[in-house]
Formats: sequence, structure tokens, C-alpha cells
Amino acid sequence: MKYQPVIGLEVHVQLLTDTKIFCGCSTTFGSEPNSQTCPVCLGLPGALPVLNGTVVEYAIKAGLSTNCTITPRSIFARKNYFYPDLPKGYQISQFEDPICQNGWLDITLAGQEPKRIGITRIHMEEDAGKLVHGDSGMGDGSGVDLNRACTPLLEVVSEPDLRSSDEAVAYLKQLHQIVTWLGICDGNMEEGSFRCDANVSVMPVGSKTLGTRAEIKNVNSFKFVKQAIEYEILRQIDLIEDGGTVVQETRLFDPNSGKTRSMRSKEEAHDYRYFPDPDLVPLVISDQWVERSRSELPELPGQRQQRFMTDLGLLPYDAEVLTASRALSDYFEAGVAVHDNAKAVANWVMGEITRALNDSGTSIDACPVPPERLAELLKLIDNGTISGKIAKTVFDEMWKSGKAPLTIVEEQGLVQVSDSGAIEGIIDEILAANAGQVEEYRSGKEKVFGFFVGQVMKASKGKANPALVNELLVSRLKG
Ligand code: ADP
Ligand code: MG
Ligand code: ZN
Repeated sequence: MKYQPVIGLEVHVQLLTDTKIFCGCSTTFGSEPNSQTCPVCLGLPGALPVLNGTVVEYAIKAGLSTNCTITPRSIFARKNYFYPDLPKGYQISQFEDPICQNGWLDITLAGQEPKRIGITRIHMEEDAGKLVHGDSGMGDGSGVDLNRACTPLLEVVSEPDLRSSDEAVAYLKQLHQIVTWLGICDGNMEEGSFRCDANVSVMPVGSKTLGTRAEIKNVNSFKFVKQAIEYEILRQIDLIEDGGTVVQETRLFDPNSGKTRSMRSKEEAHDYRYFPDPDLVPLVISDQWVERSRSELPELPGQRQQRFMTDLGLLPYDAEVLTASRALSDYFEAGVAVHDNAKAVANWVMGEITRALNDSGTSIDACPVPPERLAELLKLIDNGTISGKIAKTVFDEMWKSGKAPLTIVEEQGLVQVSDSGAIEGIIDEILAANAGQVEEYRSGKEKVFGFFVGQVMKASKGKANPALVNELLVSRLKG
């Protein structure tokens, strides 16, 4: 029998607010354990939560950017369970009436038509604390660090619309791109700022009934999500083929073995006894509020890609690469604003700039060559002052010294030689010194032409205008 995998993702997005969702404590990562706590996030009796308005703003932005409807009156609920990192004995979350509902994202796999993935809901909730074991600055035993308790999260729940690990990763990457683009999440998956639970099931191809799913908890890289889903699909198919049945359970992915293993079955699953939190009033969001947020949204990556293609004539691939992050596409646009040759700026940003950033482990925000300077360099190429080859030398020097391109060109005497008399002089010397190759060329071995070009460029220290060298060489050799 053939099987159809079905996947739905629940993604936790940690919000980049300065303070926590229900108190004024700082959310800075990596501080002394329990140094960022107060009666509210410690869960002391009688302490009252107060909702952080920025969290609501961010949730609305996320919802509007993923085509959700914003719920006019949403409520907070208590999700009750016991765990040592949760001193209140419940997590404040949303259950019925979450802030965002019924959205979607369109994903496109290489060579395929776009596919719409439904987003069931996005809700706000607080994170729990962290248990720390062993040598953690808290003595030998185990301890609870409540710095993370009460930090704001969005949970983004997809419909079971994904049909392969590749679709799941494409969806996840797009969501990651949107929340980092909006500036509401730092997107750091290693630190857990963006993490995902993957629900996976299989059903016979053509079936209308979804199979029983397993939920793989807290996978924290795109690569692991792909591996975990693929392993889980095969495990379930093998199980069914061997006459077994998939049970609904929570599983953990082990990156070392590439396998998932059972953590708890449905029988052990929690009954959270959700109920509306009496300490928090319903959150009422007016149409005006939604419309103001909508008007404040930045141009989103998909829209910008489209504009790069239609207005600037970029190819789809280039438009996609250049909108990988907002900072990169802002850099590109700042360059085009100074030098109106989008194709050239695109090539340099995707080529030299990206290479130099990678080699030096620098992020685009800290790029030592500002976009305006890059644009000046490209102007020098386009107006014939320097060749594209010399431009690479100038670029390396700009990267190191921070000097303006024209300064470097002048200081190092790199101006392109476009004086045909001077170039002819060099050509004559080269041809005289290589009579054998001239003979070969004239007897029909036109391949040696490249040799001559190389020699002339070398003799001119790379400064001869390559187009002119070609033209003059042809006429000299023919003549
Ligand atoms: P819970 O609240 O128990 O996690 P939900 O019904 O909210 O359950 O579903 C959570 C996630 O599981 C959603 O992303 C949904 O798309 C996905 N899901 C539900 N049923 C299936 C299934 N049969 N196969 C794969 N994913 C599923
Ligand atoms: Mg779940
Ligand atoms: Zn606090």
C-alpha cells in the first residue's frame, strides 16, 4: 500500500519585548539565574498579572502578516498542570477565542505551483521557567531558574495541510522569515526563540480520514525538523505494514541517532482543565486598532520580492536571495538608490559582499562597506574608470581600510587604460615576444587568443580596458 504523510506544525515564537508578558521584569537572555524575577513571575500568591501592550501589538502584526483575522474580543485561559518550573501550577495561555484565527501562508517548492497552508490560530502565552541540573552556578544539585518564566510567546498552529518534510520546512522557513522581518522575534533557534512541535501521521493514499498522529516536541533547527519528520513517517509506515497501529503520543527527537522515541502516551496526557483566567479581563481590540497596525506593517518579504522582479527587473531567484532578510534587502535597495543598475548591485551583493561576509563571519548589519560605497564602486565600473577585475581589488581594499573607492583607485593608480595607442604598444610587444603563438593563431588555432588577452592584461597590471584589448588584438592578429 502507498501512504500519504500528513503534517501539522505548532510553532513557538519568543517575542522580542524588553519586558515579560505579565510583569515588568527584563527578558534578557543568559543573566544570573532568578535575577530577573518578581512576585508575578515567581508565582507568589496574590500577585496580579498585567498584560504587556507590546505583546498584543506584536501578536496583531504576526496575525496580519499571516492573513489571519484578529479576534475582536479574545480571552486568556489558565492551562493547569504541575511542573517544578511552573510555580503557579498553571500557564496563562489562550484556549477559546485566541487573538488571531484562520490565516494562511503560500509556500512554493522549487519547480512547483504555490500551495496554501492554513493557519488555524495564533495565541499569546507565557513561557515556563527552566530546570537546571549539575554545575550551573546553582550548586551541585538541580535548581529552577525562573528568568524565562513569563516571557512572551506566540504559538502559531497550522492546519494539517503539509504533505512532506520539504513542505513543512518551507512553511517553517517562511514563518521564521516573517517574524524576524517584523522584528518581533530574534529567530535564534539554538537559544529556543523559535521552536516547533511537529504532528505527523500517515494515511493510505486517497483516504479522506487522517491517520493517528504522533507529536514530536521542541525541534529546534530546520535540519532536525526535516530529519524528525522523515524518520517518523517511515516509523509509522513500518509499524502499520507490520500489522501494528500508530498510537497518539508525544515523542522526542534525538539529533544524535536521528530517531524519535516515545515520551508519553495519550493515556498519560494532561487534562489541562482550561478555564478563563479571572485575573485578566477580556482583551478587546477595536477595528481602528487593527487598521492602525495594518497601516504600520512594513513591506513584507513576499511583496518585496514581487517588487524587485516587476520594478527592478530581477530574476525570481535573485529576488528571493536578496529578500532572505530585511537587512540584506535594505542594503541592496540603498545601493540601487545611489547607482541605478539593479542587476549590477544584485550581482555584487550576492557575490562579493556575501562572500566577504561569510569569510569574516560578519552580519550584513555590520558590513564594513556601506551600500553607498559599493554603489560608488559600481559607478566607476559602469563609467569605464576601472575594469570589473580591478574593482575586485579595490573592493578588498575598501573592506580592509574603509576608504572610498575613488580614493583607492587614485592612490594606487588603478584607472583603466582606454588609450588605444598605449594598448597597441603593449600588444605589439607581446606579439613580437610570442612569434610561435602568433603563427599558431594565424594557421587557425584561434584558442591561443585567450593567451594573448591574458598576457596583455598582465603586462598592463590588469588596467587595460578588456573590451578594447579584445578589439585591438583581433585587428592586429588578423592584420
Ligand atoms: P492539540 O491541542 O492536542 O495539540 P490540535 O487539534 O490543536 O491538538 O492539533 C495540533 C496540531 O496537530 C495542529 O497543527 C494540527 O494541524 C495537527 N494535526 C491534527 N491532526 C493531525 C493528523 N491526523 N496528522 C497530522 N497532524 C495533525
Ligand atoms: Mg499540541
Ligand atoms: Zn516578573
